Amino acid sequence: MLGHAAAPALADAPTPAAGSAPAAAPTVAVLALQGAFIEHEKKLAKLGCRTIELRQRADLQQHFDALVLPGGESTVQAKLLRELDMFDDLQARIAQGLPVLGTCAGLILLAEHVHSASDGRTLATSPSDTSADPNHSATPVNGFRTFPITVVRNGYGRQLGSFVAKAKLAAHTPPLPSSAAADSLTAPAKEIPLVFIRAPRITATSPEVQTLVALDSEPMAVRFKNQFGCTFHPELTDDDSIYRMFLNHLHMTCVREPKN
Ligand code: GLN
Repeated sequence: MLGHAAAPALADAPTPAAGSAPAAAPTVAVLALQGAFIEHEKKLAKLGCRTIELRQRADLQQHFDALVLPGGESTVQAKLLRELDMFDDLQARIAQGLPVLGTCAGLILLAEHVHSASDGRTLATSPSDTSADPNHSATPVNGFRTFPITVVRNGYGRQLGSFVAKAKLAAHTPPLPSSAAADSLTAPAKEIPLVFIRAPRITATSPEVQTLVALDSEPMAVRFKNQFGCTFHPELTDDDSIYRMFLNHLHMTCVREPKN
């Protein structure tokens, strides 16, 4: 059952050193069917990751440690994933624990419940679960539904389609076994820039979902187990914090669950 997101405890993230990736450089697959995938690849490469593009079913045969689902148009991406016969494979891998970061449309693809704001309308400033709201309708987005949150596509309406804000990045990826990582939980919170483009709004989260970034008490970045999602575009600013947080999780997962 879904409930409102709790206010986050804010602290800075443990990160690998600038320009480096955790231990062995991970290979991150970026879904490259449509949208802002190249910008993600540049960010990940700058942090020392190897990146591969997922454009067709055959690309799924390559090894990858994590997946990034970019912004763009979620309806188009979901349709292409099915037409190219990539959907079931990726859905199963995410459900089995593949670390995934979904941004904007990518978050919509992950969300368990998706609604579409009616054209030209905005949500109230404190949105709640809109399942029964007549201003919102069932959406044609047929995504993975692995992330127990409710999102409203284009939740700020057409008038406020794009805007920029700042908010603090919360502590994340608990439990953190190393003392270095534990120390970082007490580090001062860091403000990061948030770029929103026809962004979704997260209107409900299940209790296991962590809020990593909140703006005016509304979740903007969230985590559920191996899944991370942002309503904003971290690939469009100079800040790397979201990627470092994601790569830190990847590092912790690889350390704890070495591959055979
Ligand atoms: N509004 C788009 C959708 O519904 C998402 C926009 C974005 O990714 N910047 O898919």
